[in-house]
Amino acid sequence: MARYTGPVCRLCRREKMKLFLKGPKCDSMKCPIERRPYPPGEHGRDRMRQGSEYLTQLREKQKARRIYGLLEKQFANLYVEATRQPGITGENLLRMLELRVDNAAFRAGWGASRAQARQLVRHGHVTVNGKRVTIPSYRLRKGDVVALKEGSRRLIVVRHNLDTLDRQVPPWLETAAEGFEVTVRDLPIREQIDVPVREQLIIELYSK
Ligand code: SF4
Repeated sequence: MARYTGPVCRLCRREKMKLFLKGPKCDSMKCPIERRPYPPGEHGRDRMRQGSEYLTQLREKQKARRIYGLLEKQFANLYVEATRQPGITGENLLRMLELRVDNAAFRAGWGASRAQARQLVRHGHVTVNGKRVTIPSYRLRKGDVVALKEGSRRLIVVRHNLDTLDRQVPPWLETAAEGFEVTVRDLPIREQIDVPVREQLIIELYSK
């Protein structure tokens, strides 16, 4: 599946908030949001005004899409799937995004950003229930065990991330094997998903 390969800090600036797409840089003064907290481009400052209802909904959708690193088609497909499931559509959508294997690798603290976690998956460092999974969008189920392969546990980048990030693993995941393994204890509920997204606006956008 394709992915966005352009400059990611522009995405944060477009949403006028930190989306934490770059790892350690996001917490430093090098973060462009600190110096230029307005949308990119020649007319960036002009775009600071309040927009229409449609624009608010669109920006919310773009924000969610960019946080999880999905392209439009993939995101729209997830929305359709969320509408077919029982329960609240917005929560279903966020739950499916959280249950991606690249997101679990990020939540476990193996990758400094979701992009880095995605690369670990793509490069075959991650297993699910003992089998290698190289598809970042692979959907986890309750009881699945996600682990870093034995050889990959020595990767400097992974060890560095685990030592320095000090990331809190969400309650729906349970860590084991010194942090190199996480189990999906339960499917995540909305309160356990700490992304700054108002999913109701996304649903309103797609239901038009
Ligand atoms: Fe966003 Fe991180 Fe870039 Fe700051 S450094 S603009 S939070 S990706």
